[in-house]
Amino acid sequence: MTITYEYEGALYVNLTNRCNCNCVFCLRHGKAQGSIYTEDSLWLEREPTREEALADFLRRDVPSYREIVFCGYGEPTCRMDDLLWLVDRLKETYGSNLPPVRINTNGHANLIHGRDVCPELKGRIDTLSISLNASTAAEYTAICRPIQGEKAYQAMLDFAAEAVNYVPRVVFTIVDKDKSPEEIEACRAIARERGVELRIRSYIDS
Ligand code: SF4
Repeated sequence: MTITYEYEGALYVNLTNRCNCNCVFCLRHGKAQGSIYTEDSLWLEREPTREEALADFLRRDVPSYREIVFCGYGEPTCRMDDLLWLVDRLKETYGSNLPPVRINTNGHANLIHGRDVCPELKGRIDTLSISLNASTAAEYTAICRPIQGEKAYQAMLDFAAEAVNYVPRVVFTIVDKDKSPEEIEACRAIARERGVELRIRSYIDS
């Protein structure tokens, strides 16, 4: 079972394969063969306990990485309590030598947990990378297919707007495939209105 893994100098953490979405481009569908995201080992036969995940970290030279990224083959904030517990233990262990901590997320943590988790991110998470994916709720729902339906789009936008109060760097990401210049500009405006960066990623389809 792979809990932590190295990628381009960062240490990635895979705590869960659960997700409330079923994105059409999700790498869990097995595209992009050869990508680290399609490694069979990232499919967890069961979720590791928080203690197992901590032990996996402690086997490594954690301060040597440029960043710690909670990502995985699923939505990491499904395990928000365990994720934050881990960050606290790592901060206790490594103090100021702990690399910056990022969560790659669909931005649905508040929707999933039914509470505002953003204040809990303060002092723990350095970067939130939130998949914006679309400039309208209808398009978003068609692409991401969240079990909560169209309201998930607004929930994600609200989460980002709230998170900027607690997390030093909040970034929206979109994938450039099938996006018109107008749609990209609309995404820029959505990000700008919320004080969030926009990062445009290339689509991986090999
Ligand atoms: S939010 Fe991420 S893990 Fe979930 S279905 Fe979409 S791409 Fe896959």
